[in-house]
Amino acid sequence: MALDLLIKNGTVVDGSGMPRYRADVGVRGGKIVEIGRIRAVAERVIDADGLVVAPGFIDGHTHMDAQIAWDPLGSCSCWHGVTSVVMGNCGFALAPCKPADREWFARCLTAVEDIPTEAMLAGIDWNWESFPEYLANVERLPKGLNYGMYIGHSALRMYAMGRRALEERANEDDLRAMEAAVAEAIRAGALGFSSSRATTHVTPDGTPVASRIADWHEIDRLVGAMGELDAGIFQIGPDISGGEAQRLFYERLRRVALESGRPIMFGTLATKQGVDPNPWDYSTRYIDETVALGGRMYGQGTTRSINAVFSLKSYLPFDGLPAWKEIRALPLAEQKHRLADPEVRRRLVADEAKMKPKSSELQGGGAATTDPRRPDYANLFPMLDVDWDDPSVADLARRQNKHPIEIIIDLCLENDNRVFVQPLVNESPEDVLGILKHARTLATFSDSGAHVCQEMGSSLQTHLLSYWVRKRQQFTLEEAVRMLTFDNASAWELPGRGLVRTGYAADLVVFEEERIRPRLPTVEQDLPGGARRLVQKADGIAATIVNGVVAMENGQSTGQYAGQVLKGRLAAS
Ligand SMILES: [Zn+2]
Repeated sequence: MALDLLIKNGTVVDGSGMPRYRADVGVRGGKIVEIGRIRAVAERVIDADGLVVAPGFIDGHTHMDAQIAWDPLGSCSCWHGVTSVVMGNCGFALAPCKPADREWFARCLTAVEDIPTEAMLAGIDWNWESFPEYLANVERLPKGLNYGMYIGHSALRMYAMGRRALEERANEDDLRAMEAAVAEAIRAGALGFSSSRATTHVTPDGTPVASRIADWHEIDRLVGAMGELDAGIFQIGPDISGGEAQRLFYERLRRVALESGRPIMFGTLATKQGVDPNPWDYSTRYIDETVALGGRMYGQGTTRSINAVFSLKSYLPFDGLPAWKEIRALPLAEQKHRLADPEVRRRLVADEAKMKPKSSELQGGGAATTDPRRPDYANLFPMLDVDWDDPSVADLARRQNKHPIEIIIDLCLENDNRVFVQPLVNESPEDVLGILKHARTLATFSDSGAHVCQEMGSSLQTHLLSYWVRKRQQFTLEEAVRMLTFDNASAWELPGRGLVRTGYAADLVVFEEERIRPRLPTVEQDLPGGARRLVQKADGIAATIVNGVVAMENGQSTGQYAGQVLKGRLAAS
């Protein structure tokens, strides 16, 4: 029987970690049906001579919930070899949601995740209320990627309790309603339940998001509802504020793991700020101890620092200062003209002294961008290239005997797409390496779809392959591919994905081992309503195939959207 797609002459890195081998891969009906020397004819042939053929990458920590309504591609993840994502993380989901709360939801997502309200109101057709209705909506939307999703705690609380969710403990009726909704979502196909206790997660009014109002008894009950069904993952945005608060968070989360028996996942990060900075192995030791006691726990790591991103075309740390405000309101060309004026530059430098000093409070990407403290210039880097070896603004200022502000202005004038990064967590590459090498962490956590103009994590996969594999040689290609595919498919319990095997879904990425690499990010105005966001693409990826259909070719969408909804065990067909 003829094949739909034949990928010929490639080198298969199959996702298991086993050594590579030369083979053709044959695809029919969305599945891999043959691996070897294939003589059958095919409707479409890709010559992968000299290229690696691997399972498509899986990213379990995204916030694509809103974006999926207007972006069938699944950018920016689609440019980095990703074929499957999980959304609804950290309690921020768009379902369940009552019609009266839609605008509030949109504003919360703006406050926490920097997804513009205008884009959400213009771009989303809100035709759901319950989680199963939302899932059915996602099922109908054209999708270039596969999407799994959680039911989110902040959404669920608002749905069950209305505005009381932002202030009150849940009563027994509230708890029963929420338990029922969690069970309903898991049966409909949710991969799990997500929540957040991160101090950086606040509403537009600056108050804690609804999930943070919940007490631990409520968490026990809702994770317990998944325990009853023996299905579903619990994902939580951790308290990483340091000190006693964080210690108590960890202790209590361990009890949830041991009592519910459900797998628990949370962001595993090294911090150098906060009241009691965390070395990289602070979380991994805790995970090991919990597992030794009988819990199931995974750390979500990323492959580089998580940064607040600044640029002339988006935010600069100084935008709120009077002299800056005046200039930043002008059209770009006029700004550049003024920034070249020595008198103006003197005023801008003088203004910087008025900034709020740095404190020990841990700032997330949101506050770090919109309410910045005086930057630590030794921890602010122009992205001259995509590796990790750029000099800091402080280094450049010292070398050129200039004020750091002048350095920033010069670099912006030289190239108005210039991006500056301020690592918020995972500041040191060696810390990231420690986390990534740990056996119970996952390479995930792009936050794709969120922080659209504040952070850029979507390149974590191409960064792993170009920096940690090729440049630093800390992982073999086989190991790194396994981390991005089979490991994540296993942790999120996605059967039939994450390996190049017959019978598996034909989610594949075809790339050049020596050339795969993220490009520098740019600021584009391509959101509904013309809002801006950061965009980052990659080089070296020849094709991405989703359920047997070529979705991307040389970085361009083919306009074919074969993505599916990834459902949990109880609903998977
Ligand atoms: Zn998140």
